[in-house]
Amino acid sequence: MSETLEVLLDRGRIEGRVRELAKMISEDYQGRVPLMVGILKGAVIFLSDLARALDIPVALDFMAVSSYGQSSETSGVVRILKDLDENIEGRDVIVVEDIVDTGLTLRYLCDALKARNPASLRVCVLLDKPSRRLVEVDVHYRGFEIPDAFVVGYGLDYQERYRSLPHVGRLKL
Ligand code: 5GP
Repeated sequence: MSETLEVLLDRGRIEGRVRELAKMISEDYQGRVPLMVGILKGAVIFLSDLARALDIPVALDFMAVSSYGQSSETSGVVRILKDLDENIEGRDVIVVEDIVDTGLTLRYLCDALKARNPASLRVCVLLDKPSRRLVEVDVHYRGFEIPDAFVVGYGLDYQERYRSLPHVGRLKL
């Protein structure tokens, strides 16, 4: 069993793009205190860098949903494993996710959050694999478009490994 990792996005490119996204969000939410909702566990690294690069105050909350489980193929079944601590009614909510692939996870999450009547709801993803989309998702802030490859690092895992890498790489199994 040998896995190889080919770097797709190095630390410098990610840092630069995170700063750009933070600038856009800071401008768009000037004078407001949005609630950033990180989707566990993949978005944790991205969210913590993004939040610290903002020059507006934000609140943070987290949700966990089931997506791939131990396998690297999507099941299409989305379940909330951990819900928000905060009531989001009337809040400006930004969902922060590591990657949008088929779109099933974000579609489900956005529908569930919209039903709670936030003042606004936007989605910020680090990575987008548009060629894999099965359902449309309105992504407002997007870090990078990437090809259809299984990637790890900067929060993303393969069987709980690789999350702490500072870069994003394509994993070849
Ligand atoms: P979707 O519901 O859009 O198909 O998938 C979203 C979730 O699938 C992501 O939050 C992530 O957990 C997982 N995922 C999709 N593509 C990849 C990938 O290339 N690498 C890793 N590690 N996870 C992925």
